[in-house]
Amino acid sequence: MHRTQEQQLLSSELLPSNSMEYIDDDEQNNNLQQQSIKQEIQPLKCSNPIVNRQSLLPAYPTFDRFGPINRDHLLLSNISSRNLTKEQRQRRTYHPFHQPFTLTDEGNDISVRSPFLEVYDDLYGNLTKRFQIDNAILSYNYERLRTCMNIMVQERIRYGLLASDTIGMKELRMVEYPLAMEFYLQIDDELFFMKTCSFRNAKPSLYNHHGIFSIHEPKALYGLKPCEQVTCRFCFPITDILIRGRQNQPVVQFSSAQKHRFVNGYESILNCPVTCITKNILYALTCPCGQYDYIGYTSLTLDEQLKYHREHGNRIMHEFILGSENSSRMRQQTKSQEELIADNMLLYKHSARCSYAMQMFLDCNPQYWCFVPMSTMEAQTQNLTSDLSSVCTAFDRSLTFPSNIHSCHDQEAGAYMTDLPPLPSENHTFSVHQRSKQIQLLKDKRECLKPNLHLDLYNATIIALMPEGYTELFYRLIEALFITHAQTKLNTLGHLDGMIVENNNCNDINARTVNDRRGNWCQNLVRRPSTLLFDQ
Ligand SMILES: [Zn+2]
Ligand SMILES: [Zn+2]
Repeated sequence: MHRTQEQQLLSSELLPSNSMEYIDDDEQNNNLQQQSIKQEIQPLKCSNPIVNRQSLLPAYPTFDRFGPINRDHLLLSNISSRNLTKEQRQRRTYHPFHQPFTLTDEGNDISVRSPFLEVYDDLYGNLTKRFQIDNAILSYNYERLRTCMNIMVQERIRYGLLASDTIGMKELRMVEYPLAMEFYLQIDDELFFMKTCSFRNAKPSLYNHHGIFSIHEPKALYGLKPCEQVTCRFCFPITDILIRGRQNQPVVQFSSAQKHRFVNGYESILNCPVTCITKNILYALTCPCGQYDYIGYTSLTLDEQLKYHREHGNRIMHEFILGSENSSRMRQQTKSQEELIADNMLLYKHSARCSYAMQMFLDCNPQYWCFVPMSTMEAQTQNLTSDLSSVCTAFDRSLTFPSNIHSCHDQEAGAYMTDLPPLPSENHTFSVHQRSKQIQLLKDKRECLKPNLHLDLYNATIIALMPEGYTELFYRLIEALFITHAQTKLNTLGHLDGMIVENNNCNDINARTVNDRRGNWCQNLVRRPSTLLFDQ
């Protein structure tokens, strides 16, 4: 595993409890208990304080700072003037706010200019000109952005992703504030549209805008374009389904003008031109079920980052089907820190419990079908139609009469069979044919029980480009803002409004506990006829 990738994961998702050194005793006891219940999931204790998502959006200064912000007060920089209400338009046009400070530069008179005025220029002077807003609006929103930052930092400290005493890690560098503000002011309640973006070949002049405000309907101009390199798996996908793992579904959709729509309806217009090999990006993953998504930051390219998701996603599907006992017996070594972290990520847990993702996995890995329980009816039908004579012999010898087991291969296969995960319900079972297939695989062909690592379990896209050379904290802040407003259900961390991830039920704190039940996972799966190496 690539070192940077490892760091990416460590910093973007949660660590297992043993790496959190600062937690208090009670928490530690709790964690020990949880660890002793093997494979139980750590509840997410963090729940950020629950706040109204609107109160984290850019807004006009208002006195009712602690009360609910109504939509009229939001900055709404991506809404064209035509679509504003009268009150909203007035606020945008006149914004008569009491200025928090005035600053006069008398430097010309005495030929000494305070170097600190440059800081003022960076944080205020230049921005008020470029964005056509005043110091009051800027100050008010710096304060709101700081609130977002504080919530994020507290969460990361709680998870051991930031040491609580690391000086200088909890603040952005001074030069990063203006750009953080530029992102922040253009995150509306329904749309991210960074029309003023001027880094990495973006041209703000292409847009018709008045400072920070859209004059006309926001329109996407930059696309996600193919890199055209022959080795690129997005530009030149492999056609063999067993290698590529997907049927007619490209992982990445190219477009000449990209606007991404998240599951909750939030939209995001690409801020710079990109190709599939652009590095330092925010990307979104959407499950083929269309109901769950995830946002991540990576300093790598999308493909490099997806390789990492494929590795863990497919491994976790394999472990889910065969059960944790069996998979650890097969791997014969303890899991790495990185794998333990990945095991706890909602992203991968969802795939294993989602029939769309599971179907895709099984289409591409038909050797696992015999471990997918059937309804009792289906099994009976199969038992009646298949030729049982040869099957029964193998089955009886290995299982029904254990005293007859001769070789250690038989014994081992028997142990594997006993440790298969429990059936989803009493209406589920394995057919005789499946049992015999299982024995065959577990006895002599265990090497076939490996997932195809080419399969992408999620559709992927790039949603925003990050500036080069900024700090990790900056990237994580922007990532968290996106996670918060797109309300992505598969991000464990980053919901600054304290959204409860799993059930999306804000009133129930316990719902934040990651549910590890298996559910009726084999429901709705279609056993496609396989003309390939392995039958069902
Ligand atoms: Zn490409
Ligand atoms: Zn899904």
